[in-house]
Amino acid sequence: MNKSKTEHYKIAIVGAGIMGRLLAWRLLCDGHKITLFDKDPVEQGDAAAFTAAGMLTPFSEIETAESLIFEMGMQSLTLWPDYIKQWQANVGYQNTGSLIVAHGSDRADLRRFNQRLFSQQNLKPLIQHYQCVSLNAQQLQQKDPELAERFDSATFLANEAWLSPTKVMAVLAEKLQQQNIQWHSNCFIQSLSGNKVNTSSQSYSFDKVFDCRGIGAKSDWSTLRAVRGEIIKLYAPEVSIKHLVRLMHPRYRLYLVPQPEHHYLIGATQLETESCAAITVRSCLELLSAAYSLHSGFAEANLIDSRVNVRPALNDNLPKVLTKNSLIRINGLFRHGFLLAPAIAEEISYWLQHNKTNKFATLFCEDK
Ligand SMILES: Cc1cc2nc3c(=O)[nH]c(=O)nc-3n(C[C@H](O)[C@H](O)[C@H](O)COP(=O)(O)OP(=O)(O)OC[C@H]3O[C@@H](n4cnc5c(N)ncnc54)[C@H](O)[C@@H]3O)c2cc1C
Repeated sequence: MNKSKTEHYKIAIVGAGIMGRLLAWRLLCDGHKITLFDKDPVEQGDAAAFTAAGMLTPFSEIETAESLIFEMGMQSLTLWPDYIKQWQANVGYQNTGSLIVAHGSDRADLRRFNQRLFSQQNLKPLIQHYQCVSLNAQQLQQKDPELAERFDSATFLANEAWLSPTKVMAVLAEKLQQQNIQWHSNCFIQSLSGNKVNTSSQSYSFDKVFDCRGIGAKSDWSTLRAVRGEIIKLYAPEVSIKHLVRLMHPRYRLYLVPQPEHHYLIGATQLETESCAAITVRSCLELLSAAYSLHSGFAEANLIDSRVNVRPALNDNLPKVLTKNSLIRINGLFRHGFLLAPAIAEEISYWLQHNKTNKFATLFCEDK
């Protein structure tokens, strides 16, 4: 279909996880007519987005992720506050930064991370701008006194942020519904093409179809795989850690995300299986002992929740936008759905308007 730049499309978005909801909102802002489909209710469901910890930490990701994740993550880090301002809503956004710490045996990993972070010439201006620094014992004591009881150094990544995924999902639902978009919830999509979205009993027609089904798209994307993640929530009245904390660990990069009133998320495992069975004893022990190794006050904490889900990942653990005429599949957000979704949504908005990519051409791939 040959549409001019200013024309607006009739668009279907299949999958109302973080990618689907954010894209729906962003394209609605551009004036497109949006219909959203999801197999689950609006308020809850299988979306990995409902399980996520909500970390927006591009510098921390440098250790294991490709530069594309860092670059898109940096863009999202500036987009989130803009979006939240437009929504005028509380999504639990905090940007007081991350502290990276390591126990004795894992200190070499922290040194390697610092080397990677501080030695890259192209990162130097950003590192200065975002005030990423190594802290000695005294500086750590000033920054987060309770962490200084167990650690004598840390790397501080100011401005790294986190938010509440469940609040973001709820606010996006509210904003979308206020705009009267058509939202087909509890609606399992059996098949889709560039112009059609099909349930078992009905077929809907569109100008363009976006497939944002996460792991639900596996049958149509053979290299998509599930990576299990387990996370626990603790109530720890004896602990007052103020920053997001990453702990170097031989098996996972463990993190602690502070939530209001002495609640903490501790995550996350990363296991190559599509099982969503309840958290294992082994994982629970690892996460709990990591928490206790950060702060002895976690000994008296209450374990109030555990969550398990799978992250949708591709071979290289990078996101992809696969286009085939009017069918656009967005997937492979892996561990980074909240970190990347704003940058991807902006890129798609530009691409629809200008018929060419903007900043992240490598994200796109044509399905021939
Ligand atoms: C334990 C854990 C911690 C995480 N922490 C973070 C974090 O701190 N920061 C971060 O950025 N990311 C994090 N993530 C990753 C993030 O959750 C994912 O990258 C993100 O949710 C993927 O977004 P998505 O929209 O592609 O898929 P999803 O969020 O999984 O949404 C897919 C949607 O498609 C729907 N669907 C599927 N099949 C169909 C069908 N046939 N018909 C209709 N609807 C369908 C599903 O119901 C679902 O609503 C974490 C993930 C896990 C598991």
